[in-house]
Amino acid sequence: MSESERFIGITSFKNPRVKFDGKHWYLTVAVEVSPEVTLLTDEVIGVDLGVKELRKLEKQKKRLQRQSARKYKAQRQSGTAVIKGEHLMKSNNQKKLEERISSLCRRQANIRNTYMCQVVSDLVKTHPLAIVMENLNVTGMLKNGKLSRSIQEQAFGAILNQTEWKCMQVGIELLQADRFYLSSKRCNACGYVHKELKLSDRIYICPCCGHRKDRDANAADNLRDYGKLLLTTA
Ligand SMILES: [Zn+2]
Repeated sequence: MSESERFIGITSFKNPRVKFDGKHWYLTVAVEVSPEVTLLTDEVIGVDLGVKELRKLEKQKKRLQRQSARKYKAQRQSGTAVIKGEHLMKSNNQKKLEERISSLCRRQANIRNTYMCQVVSDLVKTHPLAIVMENLNVTGMLKNGKLSRSIQEQAFGAILNQTEWKCMQVGIELLQADRFYLSSKRCNACGYVHKELKLSDRIYICPCCGHRKDRDANAADNLRDYGKLLLTTA
């Protein structure tokens, strides 16, 4: 509540809830705000969602989880495992390892939320006429082969919700591309669809016209143009 500029126009607080995740306590509260009147530019922005930050954390977590599983196995094989009832007693080291894993999960969620809020509010602050996003039904599967599908879906779903809400507040139109629209594979310069483009290709190089651009930037350009077309034909 120390960030005063985030709480402008609040008329009331509602429905406070307290949550405990095993280590930290959280207080959530809904606020009612009076709608602000905002002048929009004629800009259309295409958004391609990147997930590099999440990938790094996921790697770290997987490593710890493997380490933990190895410790259990070694314990069983060496016969030092202590079985009490049906449960394997955990050593102090295992407890510490598990604590680190759950703290990483928490950090992952925090980074996701902070990143999401930052991205969305930066976008909305420019007051564009419309924001165009890819269809999340496809991105969840295609976006990043090294991240679990559920993590990507969670992150994208949360970004979409947050964007929807912020756009609604200031009257920005939020458009989603058709799920069959290939924003990553299409060349923004000539329209050629590069079917062989792999997830690992970070630079888009068009085999047809030679157009060369960062993969995500090319996709964002396509989404922007897609949105412009949609608005003019509507
Ligand atoms: Zn091209």
